[in-house]
Amino acid sequence: MTENSKKIDESRLALYKDKLVKEKATLLKELEEIGKGNLKVLQSEASGETAYDEHLADSGTYTFERERDLSLENNIRDILAKIEVALEKLDKHTYGVCDRCGNLIDPARLKALPYANLCISCKKEEEKIG
Ligand SMILES: [Zn+2]
Repeated sequence: MTENSKKIDESRLALYKDKLVKEKATLLKELEEIGKGNLKVLQSEASGETAYDEHLADSGTYTFERERDLSLENNIRDILAKIEVALEKLDKHTYGVCDRCGNLIDPARLKALPYANLCISCKKEEEKIG
């Protein structure tokens, strides 16, 4: 293997991989819970909305929660797809490299968002366009 300066050291990669695998397991579990109609996992996110919920009629609440579930589910699937890509990159030793500019993604960013595929400046660019 040739020496590549655009590389994160192995011990760090193992940490990211560990995080990704755990995150994936958590998300799969959440998807399962949503599928069962079990809203317990959503409580932390819903807690800020209790006052709002009180104003909704029972039938309306159901729709509201169902819609929230769906968007949460989409969100989870979206992240899962990103995790898959990140795990693939780990295997191919291209993990931590920005998809757009090819520079290394800031380790602090990877720590917070191990499945990030863009560096901060490219992410900002993308948000401006999107
Ligand atoms: Zn970039």
